[in-house]
Formats: sequence, C-alpha cells, structure tokens
Amino acid sequence: MFISLEGIDGSGKSTQARLLAEDLRARGVGVVLTREPGGSPGAEEIRALVLEGDPDRWSAETEILLFTAARRDHLEKTIRPALAAGKVVICDRFADSTRVFQGVTRGDLRDKVNRLHAEMIGIEPDLTLLFDMDPAIGLARAKGRQTAEERFEDFGAGFQEKCRAAFLDLARGNARFAVIDAGRDVATVAREVAALVHARLSA
Ligand code: C5P
Repeated sequence: MFISLEGIDGSGKSTQARLLAEDLRARGVGVVLTREPGGSPGAEEIRALVLEGDPDRWSAETEILLFTAARRDHLEKTIRPALAAGKVVICDRFADSTRVFQGVTRGDLRDKVNRLHAEMIGIEPDLTLLFDMDPAIGLARAKGRQTAEERFEDFGAGFQEKCRAAFLDLARGNARFAVIDAGRDVATVAREVAALVHARLSA
C-alpha cells in the first residue's frame, strides 16, 4: 500500500508521517518511511539542487523537470522495491505537491505537470492524506523551524492560501484523498490518521 501525505508547509505532515510509521511498525507491519523531494540518494542530490542556493536559479518549467527527475529515481530505487516486497510506503509529499507548487503557484502549468507525470511516473498513491489547516497557523509553525529551505516557506499567507485551495481542489471528488483537519493537536490527528489507515489495511 502506497500512502502519501500532503499539505501546506507547517501542516504537521512530517510529524504525522513519523507517528504513522511508528504505529504500523508497532503492529508488525513492514513500513518504508520516505519523503520528497528526495527519498533515494540521487533524488536527495536533486533536492539540494532545487531547495538550496539562489531561489531564482530555475524557471518553473526547469523546476518541474527536476522534481520529476527526482521522483523517477525515488520511484525506481525506493518506492517500487518496497511495494514489491509487500511493505507499506509512507511518503511525505508526492506528485500532488508538484501539481500544487509548480503547477499552480507560478502560473498555470498543471497540464505540463500532469503530462510529464503520466509519461514518466505513471502511478498514484492508494491513499493520500491531505493535512488541511489555516495557513496562518502553518506559516507560524514553518517559520519556527528556520531550515535552509526557507525560500520555499517564505511566500507569506497569500501564497499559502493559494496552495491550500489548490490542494483542496485536487482532493474534491477524488476517492484517493482523505482530508484531515490538521489544526487540532498532534495526538488527536495521529489517532484519526491511524484509524483511517487501519481501516484501509484491513479492507
Ligand atoms: O515537505 P518539506 O518541508 O520537506 O518540503 C520542502 C520544501 O519544498 C517545502 O517548502 C515545499 O513547499 C517545497 N516543495 C516544492 N515543490 C515540491 C515539493 C516541495 O516547492 N514539489
């Protein structure tokens, strides 16, 4: 089973990915916890190319190619082998992040993102957990972290609002998505996520 976690910066999805992995492992389920951009040695190198250094280095189109190249390597080296071994793959961001961040926020490039995805990636998660929350809360949380990747997190509330709407747009009418109210405390969200995943695993 392939599970992705999506949401705006600061939505708590990385914490929830870790808690979900811990919960499943404690139940004896084989889990691979991974992330994008990154998740394989080659893709981590591409992550550094995209997220570090001059923020204006790449055009939106080049960024789409880089994220897709990273995803392809991640798929080949990490995701497919894990799924073939019967593991549950928990992926912190996947193609929906590219659909939102590169496809919507820098002009409408959704067609390009989707065509490249169909050609080069070709799979979707079985379940996508969308961590939805007020961007003001997400932004405050993200800023508190002060990572080297601030440039992606420093577009302000308007940008985050646009991303939130774009994620909700993808989720609307798509059975693969479960929208989680991520504004609640960590333990409550984790309980809901675990219950959701247990139900899917035993279905
Ligand atoms: O999820 P994480 O915080 O590791 O993501 C790192 C940064 O990369 C985030 O700020 C996110 O907005 C950005 N990103 C992006 N396009 C993607 C994936 C992530 O701009 N396709």
